[in-house]
Amino acid sequence: MSPRHPRYTIDRRELLVGAGALGLAAIPILACAKQPATAATSTRLIAGTACPVTPRQTQGPFYFDPRLVRQDLAEGKAGVPLSLRLQIVEASACAPSERARVDLWHCDASGAYSGYDSERSTGERWLRGTQFADADGVVTFRTLYPGWYEGRAPHIHVKAVMADGRELVSQLYFPDALSDQLYAEGAYAGRAGRRLRNAEDWIFRGLDGQAPLAEMARTPQGLAGAIVIALA
Ligand code: FE
Repeated sequence: MSPRHPRYTIDRRELLVGAGALGLAAIPILACAKQPATAATSTRLIAGTACPVTPRQTQGPFYFDPRLVRQDLAEGKAGVPLSLRLQIVEASACAPSERARVDLWHCDASGAYSGYDSERSTGERWLRGTQFADADGVVTFRTLYPGWYEGRAPHIHVKAVMADGRELVSQLYFPDALSDQLYAEGAYAGRAGRRLRNAEDWIFRGLDGQAPLAEMARTPQGLAGAIVIALA
C-alpha cells in the first residue's frame, strides 16, 4: 500500500446516484430563498419541485443529548476532517426549516461511540453535538469522517426537530468508493473484521434506494459533505 494519500476524484454520476436533488453545485451550500419550490433555481440547495421525505431510521442504542451546542465535534480525535452541511426542509412546502434543532452523533475511527461503558468511553462526549438551523435551514458541523463497526455500513446518525416539534431520526451514508480509500489509511487502517458496503447493510437495503447519501467532495482541509433532510 502506498504511504501517500491517494487523490479521490469525485465521479459525478456516482455522486448523483442516491444524492437526491443535490447537484455538485450544492457544495458549498448556496443561499436558499424562503420561497416554494416552484421558484427553485440552480443556485438553491433544494432543486426541482419536490423535497422527498427523508426516511426514518432506527435511532440505535447510542443516542443521548450531550447538551453541547457546538460546531466542532472532533475533540482532537484522529480521522479525516469532515465539514458536513445539512439543510433541514419542510417537505410539503419544500421550504427551509429555520431554527430546526439538529443533533449529530457517530462513531470514531475505531468504530466506538462516546459515552457508553460498553464502548469504553464512559463520560466522553466526542463526536456528538447540536446545532440550530439558520434562515436557510442549514447547519454545519465540523467533525471527522466516521469509522465503521461490525454489521453496519459507515453512517452518521442525525435527529432533526423543527420549530413546530416535528421530529425525524435518520442516518446518513457515504459513497463506498470514498470509504474504500479513506479506510486504507491513518486512524482508520488495520481494522479487523469486515466492513459492510452500503448495499450489504440491512438498514440501507431496507430503504429501497431512498437511503440518505451525503454528497461528498475533497477540500484542502479534508472533506466536505452536504445533504438535504426533509421532514414531513
Ligand atoms: Fe450507528
